[in-house]
Amino acid sequence: MFEVVIGLEVHIQLNTKTKIFCSCPTSFGEAANTNVCPVCLGLPGALPVLNIEAVKKAIYFGNAVGATVHKKSIFNRKNYFYPDLPKGYQISQFEIPIVEGGELHIDFDDGSSKKIGITRAHLEEDAGKSIHNGTESKVDLNRAGTPLLEIVSEPDMRSSDEAIRYLKKLHSIVRYLEISDANMQEGSFRCDVNVSIRPKGDEKLYTRVEIKNMNSFKFIQKATEYEIERQIEAWEDGVYEDEVYQETRLFDIETGQTRSMRGKEDSAEYRYFPEPDLEPVIVSDEMLEEGKNIPELPDAKKARFVQEYGIKEYDAAVITAAIELAHYFEKMLDEGAGAKNAVTWLTVELLGRLKNGYTIETSPVDAVKLAAIVKRIEDGTISGKAAKEVLDFVMEEDADIDAVIDKLGLKQVSDDGAIEAMVEGILASNEEKVAQYKSGKEKLFGFFVGQVMKESKGSANPAKVNEILKKKLA
Ligand code: ADP
Ligand code: MG
Ligand code: ZN
Repeated sequence: MFEVVIGLEVHIQLNTKTKIFCSCPTSFGEAANTNVCPVCLGLPGALPVLNIEAVKKAIYFGNAVGATVHKKSIFNRKNYFYPDLPKGYQISQFEIPIVEGGELHIDFDDGSSKKIGITRAHLEEDAGKSIHNGTESKVDLNRAGTPLLEIVSEPDMRSSDEAIRYLKKLHSIVRYLEISDANMQEGSFRCDVNVSIRPKGDEKLYTRVEIKNMNSFKFIQKATEYEIERQIEAWEDGVYEDEVYQETRLFDIETGQTRSMRGKEDSAEYRYFPEPDLEPVIVSDEMLEEGKNIPELPDAKKARFVQEYGIKEYDAAVITAAIELAHYFEKMLDEGAGAKNAVTWLTVELLGRLKNGYTIETSPVDAVKLAAIVKRIEDGTISGKAAKEVLDFVMEEDADIDAVIDKLGLKQVSDDGAIEAMVEGILASNEEKVAQYKSGKEKLFGFFVGQVMKESKGSANPAKVNEILKKKLA
């Protein structure tokens, strides 16, 4: 039997205002070739100047994953030719990256977790973009020089599922740190997947194949599964040596297959050498200290939510996976909603209704409104069922919660006198059943509750009905 081995390289665009070696803006979606200057166009004689903000964000990341931040690291030239790389080399880090050795934990649904090693994280510049259109190809250099942090994992993942969990955790962490938008559609969080297989029990690493440049969890999963299958089949058919060799492959969305792009370069082919136009990166003690100032991260937040609010581990994991959800939840609690109801109304009712491109950030119902609904359930004004109608209403139209409750006539009858009268009426017209109940047929209790609820057309507060019925039947 086989074991799957996966290591990931993730490129995140750091959200600095300007590029890493010049002062051009990094804004996305501008007219082609407008965010450019002699430096990022690679014009002869133009000199790069390091953007210290990119360094700070890298340090921040290093501390978040318990890595070593090197006080001195260097930039290298990685030489290759491509139309979207005007200088003919990419400035990157090679021998000494700024961040080295760290780890993060991936979580499984059963509450267990696993440590994944982070080999290194280094700073580099992004390339431009080639746009192919029929027989024509154009190059847009707006992206050239955008700061990237490349985060390289150890080959510690054993399935595509673990790879996806790692990516989601990493995504969550960089969003918590606010060092990247990590917007997958816009390409600010992209991933190369390295996949190999080996006979179970074998410790050595076998030949890896690298699937390049993916930016969707779904496609990463599919591409990885396809590649695992391809390698296993080759092994079983006795053609492993011929068909699995170190190469770069691309995932084809149309066919759901990976296909060969090029033989994998050895690092020697890049002719790395120290970048002569840049000094080594020196991290001052002050910057090191400042970089330790990281916010509460997902794992810590999750543990705190379980401890402080008594919510389930699973729910805490869902809520803390994205910083916006965590903020939304805590805002609901600040507004006075109870924790357990806040969990349900946020994760089941609200998220279940956020379709058509809405996200928690663009939700038509904010935390204050949702908390107002929850509070009206908790103070007995409306039933849970009625609350769903209120939520449906305010998803469509912005309105005050109490006004909507009035308008839709959803207020529960909680008034003791009114409910007592209804209970008495029901008991009086069911004398036979009351006698049966009193002689031991306790199942009939539910029948009485049902009758009162029916009589009130569903508006009686069920807790009150239960309480008064028990008293009257005693
Ligand atoms: P390169 O830039 O040449 O791809 P890196 O060292 O930057 O090399 O990245 C290599 C990645 O491949 C790492 O994430 C590493 O964990 C992973 N890796 C290395 N060997 C294997 C293997 N045999 N199977 C799966 N992944 C591997
Ligand atoms: Mg690689
Ligand atoms: Zn520029």
